Amino acid sequence: MNVLVINCGSSSLKYQLINSDTEEVLAKGLCERIGIDGSAIVHQPAGGQKVKTEADMPNHTAAVQLVIEKLTDPQVGVIKSLDEIDAVGHRIVHGGEKFATSVVLNDEVLAVIEQCNDLAPLHNPANLIGINSCKEIMPNVPMVGVFDTAFHQTMPKKAYLYGLPLSYYEKYKVRRYGFHGTSHDFVSKRAAQILGKDIKDLKIIVCHLGNGASVSAVKYGESVDTSMGLTPLEGLIMGTRSGDIDPAIITFIAEKEGISAAEVINICNKKSGVLGLSGGVSSDFRDLAEAEAQGNEAAKTALETFAYRVAKYIGAYAAAMSGVDVIVFTAGVGENNAAARVQIGEYISFLGTNINPEKNQIQGEEVILSDEDAKVTTMVIPTNEELAIARETVRLVEA
Ligand code: ADP
Repeated sequence: MNVLVINCGSSSLKYQLINSDTEEVLAKGLCERIGIDGSAIVHQPAGGQKVKTEADMPNHTAAVQLVIEKLTDPQVGVIKSLDEIDAVGHRIVHGGEKFATSVVLNDEVLAVIEQCNDLAPLHNPANLIGINSCKEIMPNVPMVGVFDTAFHQTMPKKAYLYGLPLSYYEKYKVRRYGFHGTSHDFVSKRAAQILGKDIKDLKIIVCHLGNGASVSAVKYGESVDTSMGLTPLEGLIMGTRSGDIDPAIITFIAEKEGISAAEVINICNKKSGVLGLSGGVSSDFRDLAEAEAQGNEAAKTALETFAYRVAKYIGAYAAAMSGVDVIVFTAGVGENNAAARVQIGEYISFLGTNINPEKNQIQGEEVILSDEDAKVTTMVIPTNEELAIARETVRLVEA
C-alpha cells in the first residue's frame, strides 16, 4: 500500500510517500510559503536529487495539487497516477481529551477535531486545512489522523493536572496534554524490540531532543508523564522556546517592557531557549557548539543549561516511575549531538547509566551507548514520525 503522509503547517506542507509493505520512502518534499509571495516546492524522489520549483501556491489546495503533480511527474515522479495513492495519513497536533488513538477521518471526526482548535490555535486549523485540501483532490482515498497528543492520554490525573483551581480544568480543559507522542511511542516500542524485551516489563525515559524537545516517562508501554503541557511551550529549554519558567515572569516582563502578556508569550516561544540564552547566537546546536569552541561564553552557558534541564527531567521521571531501565535519546540533537549526551550523562550516572565514549561517536544510528553491565541501558534510536504515521494509517485502513 502507498501511503501519503502529510504534515501541514500554516504556511508549509511536508510530505512523504511511503510504500507500507517495504517501508521505503518513495519520495518526500516540502511546500514553503503557501499563501505568501515566493512560494516553492522542494521535491526529492528516493535516490534522486532535490528539485526546487518556484510555483504559485495561493492556498493549501494548490499545494496538495502540486505535490500530486510532482509525485506523478514523468521525470521526478514515482507513481503514474493518483490511483496509486491508497491512503493518506495526517499529522494532527492536538486531539485534546477526545482522541487517545489515531482515527479514520470522516465528517463527524473532523467536527470534533475542530473543537480542539482553541487548544492549539497555531497548529490545528492548519492541519484541518491540509485535510480538507486532500479531501477535495482525493475524495475517495481513505484518510487517517494521527495526533501528537494521543500517546500521552494514558497519563494519570496526578501527572496531567496543574496546581490550579479545578474549575479551569472542568470548564476549559486546562491540563497537561504533552506532544511528540508519535515519536515517544515509536521510539519506546523500538527500544523494547532492540533489547528483545516485552515493553510491558520496562520503565523507559525517552528524550526527544530536537528544535522542539520533550521528555516522557513510558512505564510498561504507557506514557505516565511528559514535559510538554497544555501547549508545546512547557518543559525543556528548546531551540527558541523557554520551557518551564515561573509564570509570574510573564506579567513582570510585560510591565517592565510595556508590552502585553501575549507578546511575552510570543518571546517565550520564538526568541528564548538556547537562542535567547546564547544572546542570539543561534537556535541550532551545531552553531552553538561552533561558537562555544571559539570561546563564546553565552553559547557555552546555553548548552550547559539545556543539558542540565534534560538531566533534571530524567531524574524526575526516574522518581515518577520508581525506577528506570532504559533511557533513549532521539531527534536531531539526541541522535547527533555526542557532546550533549555526554553532558547529560554526567549528571545521571548515579542512576547506573554509563555512556561508552567510543559508541557515543555514532550519529543518527541505532546504538546501545552503555556497556553491558550498566544498570540502566542508554540508547540512541532515530525517530521516524512519518513511518509511524504511515503504519497507523495502514492499521486503521485495513481494519
Ligand atoms: P525539529 O524536527 O523539531 O525541527 P530536529 O529533530 O530536526 O528538530 O532537530 C534539529 C536540531 O538538531 C538542530 O538544533 C540541529 O543543530 C541538531 N542537529 C542536527 N544534526 C546535527 C548534528 N549532526 N550534530 C549536532 N546537532 C545536530
